[in-house]
Amino acid sequence: MYDITEPIIKAPTFTGVTQNSAVDQCDLFQRAWVEIDLVALATNIQRLCALLSPQTSLMAVVKADGYGHGAVTVAQTVLRSGASCLGVATVPEGIQLRKAGIKAPILILGAVISSEQVHALVRWNLEATVCSEQQAQLISLTLESLGKKLPIHLKIDTGMSRLGVSWEEALQFGRLVSGLPGLEIASVYSHLATADDPNPAVMQLQNQRFQRALGHLESLGIKIPKLHIANSAATLSDAKLHYDMVRVGLAMYGYYPAPHLRSRLELTPVLSLKAKVTQVKTIPAGTGVSYNHQFIAKEPTAIAVVGIGYADGVPRQLSNRMQVLIKGQLVPQIGAIAMDQLMLDITSIPKVQPGDVVTLLGKQGNLEISAEDWAQKTGTISWEILCGFKHRLPRVAHFH
Ligand SMILES: *Cc1c(COP(=O)(O)O)cnc(C)c1O
Repeated sequence: MYDITEPIIKAPTFTGVTQNSAVDQCDLFQRAWVEIDLVALATNIQRLCALLSPQTSLMAVVKADGYGHGAVTVAQTVLRSGASCLGVATVPEGIQLRKAGIKAPILILGAVISSEQVHALVRWNLEATVCSEQQAQLISLTLESLGKKLPIHLKIDTGMSRLGVSWEEALQFGRLVSGLPGLEIASVYSHLATADDPNPAVMQLQNQRFQRALGHLESLGIKIPKLHIANSAATLSDAKLHYDMVRVGLAMYGYYPAPHLRSRLELTPVLSLKAKVTQVKTIPAGTGVSYNHQFIAKEPTAIAVVGIGYADGVPRQLSNRMQVLIKGQLVPQIGAIAMDQLMLDITSIPKVQPGDVVTLLGKQGNLEISAEDWAQKTGTISWEILCGFKHRLPRVAHFH
């Protein structure tokens, strides 16, 4: 169990910058920032946990700096709200959490392929995914030389064709791994390729292959403490896939992997993106705006310059195609989005001033702009939008 030290949340004030040593406190709320709603995060976790049977635990996936939300703050919050362990992609991501004092089990979901990485796992008490025979041997040899043991998680490829030993080779793999010193099998897992598809056929096939692989491992007498296969989509769509643990990423950040999963559970987006107006002016009809004059004013137009751009993670493809919220109203963004700035047409809104806050993602009053809107417009998925915010933006966590 995670040991609860002091509460990180000092309601109702902002907890300050997380995950961003480059940013000084003096930069807070000055130009542009990401706001993290810890109440929404905790509530999402509680609701997700309520879907699970008592034997099933929840691994919170906080790779890619907690999907752009700030891994340490997210980890601290979810571990207090029902998550029992953490998943990250890389060894440095795990080390970052340990350095922040997090004691819960941390699984590296990516592959560890060098003895240096194994040394780091031992030193920082991180758990490894073992996805090939070669890798199992390297990890075992390194552990032997150190005189250490390490919890490992066997990854079976059941149809994602990414990391893992093929489900058809599970018997041979199990035989090898169970004979290697230093490796303590903590779980066997797989990853689903199509869990967000309304048609469950491939997902079911992957599950059957998973079962078949498990049968082989069990026939060798291998004790498997935990089984897991479900990501957010499978957690929402099929309780039969929950096994001993679910690995939840996107859903805990308040987004649905697919529209048909909306009805399963109420989730609240955790992240908002905000920036300040830096200058306001009126341009005459016929005046071009921003690089290459992709926007030309048809009539005298009031514009606001905002201090955020594509170097912060606002996709440049959204130029002339996005709206933002200011003073509780939607206004169009105009002209090419620049590296550090973008412009708005604020003709419809009187009295906008430098310093006014613009919400690019998130809510103002009853209106909301979501990462899904951006994902649709840019031909990507909400996962990529969320983890696309650069570290130039301070992450500010709050408890409202
Ligand atoms: C990223 C990841 C997850 C979480 O996926 P979501 O769709 O965001 O829930 C789960 N398992 C593995 C192996 C992952 O890499």
